[in-house]
Amino acid sequence: MFDNLSLKLDRAFKTLKGTGTITEINVATTVKEIRRALIDADVNYKVAKEVTDTIKTEALGRDVLISVSPGQLLIKITQEELTKLMGGKKEDIKISGDPAVILISGLQGSGKTTFTGKLGAHLKKQGRQVLLVACDIYRPAAIDQLKVLGGQIGVEVYAEPENKNALEIATNAIAYAKKTGKKTVVVDTAGRLAVDDVMMKEIEALKKALNPSETLFVVDSMTGQDAVNTAKTFDERLNFDGVVLTKLDGDTRGGAAISIRHVVNKPIKFISTGEKMEDLDVFHPDRMAQRILG
Ligand code: GDP
Repeated sequence: MFDNLSLKLDRAFKTLKGTGTITEINVATTVKEIRRALIDADVNYKVAKEVTDTIKTEALGRDVLISVSPGQLLIKITQEELTKLMGGKKEDIKISGDPAVILISGLQGSGKTTFTGKLGAHLKKQGRQVLLVACDIYRPAAIDQLKVLGGQIGVEVYAEPENKNALEIATNAIAYAKKTGKKTVVVDTAGRLAVDDVMMKEIEALKKALNPSETLFVVDSMTGQDAVNTAKTFDERLNFDGVVLTKLDGDTRGGAAISIRHVVNKPIKFISTGEKMEDLDVFHPDRMAQRILG
């Protein structure tokens, strides 16, 4: 997943190999290399600086036990700090209301529609009665795409292909969900290639009208710092509840996964690691930190 970053971090820790004690000088060298590795991985500079400063202070402040080498200690501290940086503990999505509404937002191509299907499968597995709603009115193919996914996972999809009013479709979908006993409704929305005001106004209106218990922002992790900036812009307008990082199976450098929580102050809730419906994981900061460290 983050092969390059893991390799560079491993190299950084190796500079401490063979040294018996933690000193200001050897820790400074290693920490500098960790910082460079994070910046190379497209981690926001301020975030990389802050976290490595903390790693350094922690390392110098801790007694090295006889059984733990300086290298091992630094790995442990780095893992703890990366975990904290990514939110500390797992955070679940909130599902409440009758029906509970989950709103999916993000730019076009980020993986919104694919994720909507995956979330449908995930919720169905929990025993919920789910309805997926196709509100991506500008990309007609998205409606068919969602229908195909719904067919694959055995979850009903509500669509009005001729209707160009997302708010109306969503409102009708809620009425349909009530009538048919679907307790959880996942609404896929329209994205654009870049943030634009019309799209934002539309999704803001959807959020206001539907009062979702959870609004998720889907973002392509391969876009690195751009992912973080887009998240910030969406959050300012939408005040979303959680982030979904997609395409973590590609050769992403890892920056978005590491900095998004800290910069936007919203938790990552899911990660998507492929195109298939089962390629979805609940996000665990500690497991991700472990993966980053290889
Ligand atoms: P939308 O425009 O945001 O609805 O994006 P789509 O769901 O249509 O996804 C855009 C493309 O990315 C499609 O070809 C998906 O199959 C692909 N995709 C989505 N999620 C992932 C992922 O986690 N990994 C990979 N490799 N591809 C993905």
